[in-house]
Amino acid sequence: MILKAKKHFGQHFLINENIANNIAESLNLNICKNIIEIGPGKGVLTKYLIQKNANIKLIEIDIDCINVIKEKFENIDVIHNDFLQINLSEINFKEYSIIGNFPYNISSQILFKVLENRNNIRELVGMFQKEVSDRICSKPKSKKYGILSVLIQAYFDCENLFNVSPDNFHPIPKVNSSVIRLSRNEVKDLGCDHDHFIKVVKGAFSQRRKKLKNALKNFTNLNHVKLKHLMSKRAEELNVSDFIKLTNIIS
Ligand code: SAH
Repeated sequence: MILKAKKHFGQHFLINENIANNIAESLNLNICKNIIEIGPGKGVLTKYLIQKNANIKLIEIDIDCINVIKEKFENIDVIHNDFLQINLSEINFKEYSIIGNFPYNISSQILFKVLENRNNIRELVGMFQKEVSDRICSKPKSKKYGILSVLIQAYFDCENLFNVSPDNFHPIPKVNSSVIRLSRNEVKDLGCDHDHFIKVVKGAFSQRRKKLKNALKNFTNLNHVKLKHLMSKRAEELNVSDFIKLTNIIS
């Protein structure tokens, strides 16, 4: 069946088999054999995952893609749903890794969902728009360092693996892509309230050019002695542990 790509589902199908194989190879099956693939499309990655003898579940929003997948692979477990709507605790994997050449229009939402489910996720290997991958992996004092960098790096070790140019997709996207690996770190508890942490990080970066004492004006206890040296800094100068300290003091 010939499938016309659907723009509203962010469909850019990977057409380079080597890259598909490299993405699948980047997942550490020794850590976890349960794999969820988000947006398998026509199954270019799925094919290599199947060869790896893993327990695979696919989540795909587009019924036309699902029909192609079911034609290609026997006995494959496909859930026809929007990944963002699924309650992942109902998937009968206690722990799992996530893989995908993700729909770029919902990258941030996917990452926030990964954060919510962080305690069941061992690893994520995926392709994002390069700009998003760079943001996730960047370190303090870089212009790209922002909300996602801090929140993801609090719970995951992040590696930029390789770049993929637009001509490896059909249709050709307007942006460059890159594949990253997020490995869940040992942190079960940050040492501060997780939801408050998110609010503080978002607040600090909402006006990233301002010093924290101004950017965080809506919070209280900013004058605490322990925060004196942080308040004259900007959000992009703080590392994860600075944000944890901040979260524990301000309210
Ligand atoms: N992995 C395939 C397809 C990538 S395109 C490949 O590399 O060729 C992105 C895929 O995500 C498409 O198949 C699209 O239908 C699917 N998709 C888009 N939004 C989705 C969502 N909210 N939940 C699940 N799948 C989604």
